[in-house]
Amino acid sequence: MTSKYETVIGLEIHAQLSTESKMFCSCSTKFGAEPNTNICEVCTGQPGALPKTNKKAIELAIKTGLALNCKIEPYSVFARKNYFYPDLPKAYQISQFDLPIITGGYLEIEVEGKKKKIKLTRIHLEEDAGKLVHKGAERIMGSEESLVDYNRGGTPLMEIVTEPDIRSPLEAKIFMEDLAHLLQYLGVCDAKMEQGSLRCDANISIRPVGQKELGTRSELKNMNSFRFVQMGLTAEVARHTELKESGEKIIQETRYFDTKTHETKSMRSKEEAHDYRYFPEPDLITVEPDKEWIEEIKTTITELPEKKKERYTKEYGLSDQAAETLISTKELSDYFESCLKIEKKPKEITNWILGDITAYLKAKNLNIKDINLPPGEVIELIKLIEKGTISGKIAKEVIVKTLNTGKTIKDIVSESGSTQISNEDELQKIVEEAIKNSPKQVEQYKSGKKAIIGYLVGQVMKASKGRANPGLANKLLKQQLD
Ligand SMILES: [Zn+2]
Repeated sequence: MTSKYETVIGLEIHAQLSTESKMFCSCSTKFGAEPNTNICEVCTGQPGALPKTNKKAIELAIKTGLALNCKIEPYSVFARKNYFYPDLPKAYQISQFDLPIITGGYLEIEVEGKKKKIKLTRIHLEEDAGKLVHKGAERIMGSEESLVDYNRGGTPLMEIVTEPDIRSPLEAKIFMEDLAHLLQYLGVCDAKMEQGSLRCDANISIRPVGQKELGTRSELKNMNSFRFVQMGLTAEVARHTELKESGEKIIQETRYFDTKTHETKSMRSKEEAHDYRYFPEPDLITVEPDKEWIEEIKTTITELPEKKKERYTKEYGLSDQAAETLISTKELSDYFESCLKIEKKPKEITNWILGDITAYLKAKNLNIKDINLPPGEVIELIKLIEKGTISGKIAKEVIVKTLNTGKTIKDIVSESGSTQISNEDELQKIVEEAIKNSPKQVEQYKSGKKAIIGYLVGQVMKASKGRANPGLANKLLKQQLD
């Protein structure tokens, strides 16, 4: 669809870093603990408490910066961002302001077959606030009462800010998916939008095509899935377009996406927007990572998704689509590679993983890491087929039984007596029976319609409950009939 307006989107992403402890104290970051149990004097802002920067958080931010082609700043500073809210006991958040740890960089995405670089402005470190639970309403306004849990307060966050390079809601969604993917591969964030470990705010505006100057923007919050990023922004583009078309003024404001009505709604206008005051944090030293440390961090970056995909297609001859699916999560590609380490049969392994195993996972709503199938078992199955011990058809049943019971492939095969019949004498009887029962087809075969043999092989397979070796059945049938 061509429109006379161009959409301009910039994203601000909060990624929760995968550290064991909080940003400025040693409290655990473990999710799901009893409310207000993972807290201390530092993260609740008690008088006299002194924060200390978590080195691991800095390391993970640098690792991200390196993977995103950014500049790692030799000198960065923490500041206090002052504001009051019940989830912030200190009444300020420690964040980086004018001197962030990382600047520049980009992430290359692919939109409808075209590659595009989305530039980054900066990545900075900060701490998360606590969590409010409202009773009787979804938001603090209108709720009967609100409860506060400070467990999340002080959790390390990395804020990734993009340039306004994104041109459509679809691009924004793809960017978020690719970024999440990258963060997972790097092991810096588990990047689950639905669980809040990856959060996305967007600045969005539209302008007539060809115009340089940006239109008035709105900020859109509360998009907690990749799908909602696209849906929320699409709704906002439509709202802006409608206002422009009817000659109404777009006001600068913060809005949220209502996932029930699929509309965006106003939260606060610019007049009410926070006017934060930042002060340098006097209790923390500046961050000055030395070159050796940065080099050391560089060595911890393992193969990233795009490179992996390329290797899968080039080295293993997998199709683009198969490679893409295998790299779709780090767990899946790790599993594939564990199988590969045991036996170099990339195509067979891929077929099982993306075929029967994936179907099983989907049906049971499981993740590959939750299943009881060591990579060695996949190889065992492939070998049994190759040796002719079981047929491909039986193998499909065997793998499901193995997944359901947790028994080994070998045990399932010997228990079920489903080994393939590759013994000529044994199969001969079944072949003769099939010939006897299909006089019509035999006649057709003899009159030159050789393709009918497929039907006869099918009869043998059926009579043997799938255990006959199809190649051998074919050979024996021909011997009998020719
Ligand atoms: Zn603490």
